[in-house]
Amino acid sequence: MANNKNDVIISLRDIFVEFDGEVILNHINLDIKDKEFLTILGPSGCGKTTTLRIIGGFLEPEQGTVTFEGEKINGLPPYKRNVNTVFQKYSLFPHLNVFDNIAFGMKIKKLPKNEIKRRVKEMLAIVDLKGYEKRSVSKLSGGQQQRVAIARALVCDPKVLLLDEPLGALDLKLRKNMQWELKQIQQKTNTAFVYVTHDQEEALTMSDTVVVMNNGVIEQIGAPADVYNEPVNAFVADFIGEANILNGTMLDDCRVKILGEELECVDKGFGQNTPVDIVIRPEDIEVVKPEEAKLVGEVTEVVFKGVHYEMTVMCKGCEWIIHSTECSPVGSKIGMKIIPFNIQIMNKMFLAEKNTFYAEVISASEEENKITVKVEDSEFDIENYYFETGSTLEISLPPRALSIAGDGVGHIDDVYIESVIFKGEHNEIILESDEQKWLMQSDVDEQVATYVPLKFDFTQAEIKLKEGANET
Ligand code: ATP
Repeated sequence: MANNKNDVIISLRDIFVEFDGEVILNHINLDIKDKEFLTILGPSGCGKTTTLRIIGGFLEPEQGTVTFEGEKINGLPPYKRNVNTVFQKYSLFPHLNVFDNIAFGMKIKKLPKNEIKRRVKEMLAIVDLKGYEKRSVSKLSGGQQQRVAIARALVCDPKVLLLDEPLGALDLKLRKNMQWELKQIQQKTNTAFVYVTHDQEEALTMSDTVVVMNNGVIEQIGAPADVYNEPVNAFVADFIGEANILNGTMLDDCRVKILGEELECVDKGFGQNTPVDIVIRPEDIEVVKPEEAKLVGEVTEVVFKGVHYEMTVMCKGCEWIIHSTECSPVGSKIGMKIIPFNIQIMNKMFLAEKNTFYAEVISASEEENKITVKVEDSEFDIENYYFETGSTLEISLPPRALSIAGDGVGHIDDVYIESVIFKGEHNEIILESDEQKWLMQSDVDEQVATYVPLKFDFTQAEIKLKEGANET
């Protein structure tokens, strides 16, 4: 760990933000400690930049408090906060040289010339641009410009530097170099960095603390190794690193059933016969002889990845990924041995074996054996059922009976795709409409954080009158 200080500088408490009636940050809590490199990681649109804007003072939350060293700073404008920001488009002044770009803020503050000169020189040494003072910034490479932007943001010695995808515009090689340099700069200056990215590798390599966000909430906060080795749920497991994520049943403490096989694990406290999500990292599966393991599969694909072979294995209808330094050829039968410690058990993100919802019959034809129902704000027909107008129905649909309407005509429109997790044999997709969450199974890989029309296959439905509802 780079920092050994645990002093909290900035605290966000119960932060709630809505844009146009849509919840963007849903009561988040976050502590930023002195001198730490904290990375906010999550898919596009999950609320990372919004969180950064709250810290920087560019946006006021509807609810919640922001404190700086224990004092509430809600309402304090950005320039009065001891925080500075580096944006993806680093907006240097193209007509000024490197020195004047870095010195700009200090000149406005009318600091003595000697001091400005000393500080700019110090900063240039830190960002490895010694001797570049007179260069025009427009003649610098992308990486050099980025370093000037960082020097400019750090020269006034803020306690916290906010960086919003600062390496996003750079090509991959430069990006890798800059990751290392940023970490060096952070350690040399002893400033807390709050870094926003959607690149999990970047987050794991650079950070002391990783904050994983999804859909306006913080899913997990921890050291990179903890978040990787002990993800709290399937979203985190899937987002960070490669993973085999499967459905399983926790039979009892330390006993889990995966694909019909009972295996030993180390987790406790999930109760008995509880449906759970399981994560097994590809490097944690040992390839053994088929007779030496309970799980046996056939290798269907092998890709050499430089350090290891990546093998795709079909086992009991599920696709597994295994990383091994030894290659098992395509077509071979292998045993997959997993020690209890490497089977990570997680609570399900949304526990539902079927989707149950209520519908109001708004018209009905006994002759045509057809009803028209209202669900949330949508109205649609259901064939082959008859219930009287005015009755309330309880409808249950298995996850397989849900799909995304390819023709754009769904039963419920504008349903939000909250997560898409590949579970070895299909994708498990969690969706959210105005009033409830839905669980869908699909062979198609859908785009997370998009709005889609949701379609139901009523031939798989169980439809009955809602218990206790009045029949008319
Ligand atoms: P990205 O990685 O794509 O930058 P992000 O995680 O940083 O995404 P935010 O920029 O925080 O996401 O945006 C979160 C959500 O809030 C998005 O759906 C975005 O469209 C919406 N949003 C952000 N700013 C505004 C605004 N000023 N008005 C309306 N909606 C906004």
